[in-house]
Amino acid sequence: MRIPYTAPLPSPTIIPTSASTVPGAIAALHDFLAPPTEPAKGNGKTVILSGAGLSVASGLADYRGSAGTYTLNKTYRPIYFHEFCASHEARKRYWARSFLGWTNLHRSRPNRGHEAIGSLGALGQLSSVITQNVDSFHPQAHPDLRTLELHGYLRSTVCLSCRTEYNRDDFQADLSALNPSWAAFLAEMLDAGALTTENPEERRRKGLKTNPDGDVDVPGVEYTTFRYPPCPRCLSSPPEGTRVEQDSEGAWAPTSTAGILKPAVIMFGESIPDAVKLGVESAVDEASRILILGSSLATYSAWRLVKRAKEQGMPIGIVNLGGARGEEQFFQDVARSGSGRDGVRTSLSLEDFLPVLVERMRESAATASSPVFRSASFQPAPWAWR
Ligand SMILES: [Zn+2]
Repeated sequence: MRIPYTAPLPSPTIIPTSASTVPGAIAALHDFLAPPTEPAKGNGKTVILSGAGLSVASGLADYRGSAGTYTLNKTYRPIYFHEFCASHEARKRYWARSFLGWTNLHRSRPNRGHEAIGSLGALGQLSSVITQNVDSFHPQAHPDLRTLELHGYLRSTVCLSCRTEYNRDDFQADLSALNPSWAAFLAEMLDAGALTTENPEERRRKGLKTNPDGDVDVPGVEYTTFRYPPCPRCLSSPPEGTRVEQDSEGAWAPTSTAGILKPAVIMFGESIPDAVKLGVESAVDEASRILILGSSLATYSAWRLVKRAKEQGMPIGIVNLGGARGEEQFFQDVARSGSGRDGVRTSLSLEDFLPVLVERMRESAATASSPVFRSASFQPAPWAWR
């Protein structure tokens, strides 16, 4: 995964022009999702590509929104994969911040936007969801609609040596046991409400910065005292030619050469596994159109999928507050006076608008299957030829 570019993007051009009002945008997206004619390619359904903007209403920060990480925290720089692998100090810092951020992330829940996506899936409109988010909200909200997690997930840790995955909650308990003074500090912060979004004042006062990757910045804290456990499997049977050791209290010892646990997310500088790459590509290829929700496509791996869809002539829809990378190219041949069938670009709050779109799709599905409209062909009234 490459580092996204963080420069501001130009404001979007709304397409079609009627989509600048909420009812207009709903009508355009209705036509986008359920076009009146047969699609040119694919399974007739839509693949969703979601980003951090969808999780904002769940209390998580995004990257580029008004309260986003890149907006409020200009010096924010996420950890790189090679740093994590190479440096015990970098891992201590990473796990300390992750330890503090986990409770808030763990308490957060999918929002109405995720649920609406589940409903669109149940209505038969969607074939799959590709998400850049690592919060697991999609699989939680709609287990019956397939989710492909492009950048991994925070709910597990994974061993760099043997690739075994472990539950992140259990890992949190291990971190608490290994770091009692940190656990006390975390309890104090949670009591003060400093880590929850309900108390942004308190958080600002303490200088805390929470990030969408589920970690927390605490000014003036000494990360070098933090300890983390080794992979249990590698500890009991180290891979050949390696050494996995722990200190007297059970923390990973720097004399080890294996057994390092990493969050099961794709870090910057880390490759997306081939199986994931192939999975998301075929999810795009089999669909008839792609709808981007809450992403500025600043990350190359996401932008590339939209470009792939465009190259296949698929209609593209983008609902995102603020600009999206390369969007002029995606909409260059879409008429601004269209119905939305060939492409939609709108800038709305997802949590408010997606449930309304679902209602609209439900109404038209009910109309389409009602007995009045189900008759095979039009019969002229009998008096017409008398
Ligand atoms: Zn292992």
